Amino acid sequence: MAARILEGKVFAAQIKDSLKSEITVLREVNGINPGLAVIIVGEDPASKVYVSNKHKACEELGIYSEVIRLPENVSKQELLERIEQLNNDKIIHGILVQLPLPSHIKADEKEIMNRINPDKDVDGFHPINVGKLGIGEEFLVPCTPHGCIKMLELAQIPISGKRAVIIGRSNIVGKPMFNLLLARNATVTVCHSRTENLAEITRQADILVAAIGKPRFVTKDMVKHGAVVIDVGINRIAEKKLVGDVDFEQVKEVAGAITPVPGGVGLLTIAMLLHNTVKAAQAMCGKNSERI
Ligand code: NAD
Repeated sequence: MAARILEGKVFAAQIKDSLKSEITVLREVNGINPGLAVIIVGEDPASKVYVSNKHKACEELGIYSEVIRLPENVSKQELLERIEQLNNDKIIHGILVQLPLPSHIKADEKEIMNRINPDKDVDGFHPINVGKLGIGEEFLVPCTPHGCIKMLELAQIPISGKRAVIIGRSNIVGKPMFNLLLARNATVTVCHSRTENLAEITRQADILVAAIGKPRFVTKDMVKHGAVVIDVGINRIAEKKLVGDVDFEQVKEVAGAITPVPGGVGLLTIAMLLHNTVKAAQAMCGKNSERI
């Protein structure tokens, strides 16, 4: 039987629809308009596209959005001061620093990211939010793995009791994915570059998540018949050709369900950023948010 293709746009639209009603409640009941500030440093063309997509997505839902463009040679101190201003800005509920940072401040990335108030950390990268996720108190969760989980939930794919295998142990995808699946009662294995007999492990997965960064790395022989395959990878193999970490054409022959690239989980990342902005605004209700 052909695999079910999990189209990101279908699930992203569902998430955005439910956010619309939450935003209406925030406005009409709490008098708060959610606001997101995105800081972009320098002229990296890919970052510019990502930031512009985030801004457009906010506009679509009526979320207030501010893009702060700082010059390539901005000092660490200036950047930290700008973050501090946003931490204290009552109309801003979410703050995001678009990565990568230019080389002269790259080494300070951790310090810069950690300066964001954890209540406004819509990327979910602050150690407080990472810790909360680790102890099962999900608040602001990294957008990409959160999008994968939302997709599984909206697609009504059972997670509890299932064997889940993640390939990749990054702080942005692999590790939060582990915590999210574990919290939903999956039995989770995390594989990485030093894992021995990888295919033997991946073949046991009911749910297989690939977050590796290597084009078409996961082949048919690595996937159990009927498994759900979530492909997080985005790999540019030619100017206009993006592929995932999974060999889609091969693997769809054996999988029960599979996400395409492009058009899969990537589309959920921005939806979850909007979700986090709304969540941060909800959490700030009655605290220090400016009323409209
Ligand atoms: P990363 O480079 O930080 O981590 C890659 C992981 O893959 C590492 O933990 C490494 O141990 C593992 N790995 C590498 N080679 C391996 C091998 N041969 N066998 C087993 N494991 C191996 O990458 P990341 O930030 O987690 O991103 C992974 C992929 O997901 C990339 O293609 C990235 O572009 C994509 N991504 C997409 C989104 C999105 O959809 N919006 C967001 C984040 C990342």
